[in-house]
Amino acid sequence: MRWRTVTWALAGLLLTSCAQEPRSTDEWFHSRRGEPVYGTPRALPERHGRESVAPGDDAAPPGGAVPGAYLKWGLAYPVSVPAGRPARKPVQQEGELPAVVSRVPVKDKTVFLTFDDGVEKDPEFVRMARELGLPFSMFLTEEDAGNNYGYFKRLQRLGNPVHGHTLTHPDLTRLDLAGQRRQICAQQERIERRFGARSTVFRPPYGKYDAATLRAAGSCGVKTVAMWQADMKIDDFQYREGARLRPGDIVLAHFRGPKMQKGRTMTEMVATMLRSIQRQGYAIGRLEDYVP
Ligand SMILES: [Zn+2]
Repeated sequence: MRWRTVTWALAGLLLTSCAQEPRSTDEWFHSRRGEPVYGTPRALPERHGRESVAPGDDAAPPGGAVPGAYLKWGLAYPVSVPAGRPARKPVQQEGELPAVVSRVPVKDKTVFLTFDDGVEKDPEFVRMARELGLPFSMFLTEEDAGNNYGYFKRLQRLGNPVHGHTLTHPDLTRLDLAGQRRQICAQQERIERRFGARSTVFRPPYGKYDAATLRAAGSCGVKTVAMWQADMKIDDFQYREGARLRPGDIVLAHFRGPKMQKGRTMTEMVATMLRSIQRQGYAIGRLEDYVP
């Protein structure tokens, strides 16, 4: 399959049913035209500057991103996404155990964003995610996120899937099979109850797992154990191999705020991360389109 980088505006052609507010023909035409992703940055009219407090704030914009919003969030280009989803997922589960993935086998310069734990619940990040049309996956622990799942539901409504990351974030390799099942399966079930969607993806705390983890996770419907290749620190990535992103890398970030990031807010950290991804010429895919 041939990939092109396009803005979410183009993807919006296929998603007109998402539109929740009427748009003028002119405005719709304008957003359809999109913009070359790695071309010269050009300011677009800021048409939606006041809608952040309007009803429907949580709805994804019809074109996938608010035109021109990338400039407001400190980016030189709109967030680039693949032109479509792969016809066949490049990762498949073989047998009963989940597939363990840290880099999706793709040739195109696409990476996948994931946010963990759920400690920080910054409303500005909801706005940022919505205005940029940012695709990502969430891995939540009950302990960190459970006091306000509503916050993450707002992010889910934008089209971003929620997965389990255990109840209390233990090192699973220190628990027996039954203990691991409790930690993993109870949270997968809770996520399904609270978010209304069954998750088949799981991430072990600290990225630590053993054979019992795979058995435990597999026993409650997990098909993919999502690890990562690049870990977003406050100012830049820490790479598991080499010094740059590679096609298919899963990127780890966290819901963290100023207390955990030397004063940096969640949106500042995300903007820094997106600038690095864009500098390296990558689009951002949705992990669930690529793994079982
Ligand atoms: Zn974690």
